[in-house]
Amino acid sequence: MAKGNCPECDAEIEINDPVIREVTECPECGAELEVVEIKGNKIKFSVVEISGEDWGE
Ligand SMILES: [Zn+2]
Repeated sequence: MAKGNCPECDAEIEINDPVIREVTECPECGAELEVVEIKGNKIKFSVVEISGEDWGE
């Protein structure tokens, strides 16, 4: 179990088995958060920017 804080609303988020680049959704504000760093039981999140661009073509 590890936890970190949402960079948008500072809510505490727990993940059982975090993996770098895993994306999760903040339960408080709904922001898409990517795991960018794991140190011991602390997770650092980065907000995933959704640009609206289409994937592929
Ligand atoms: Zn949040």
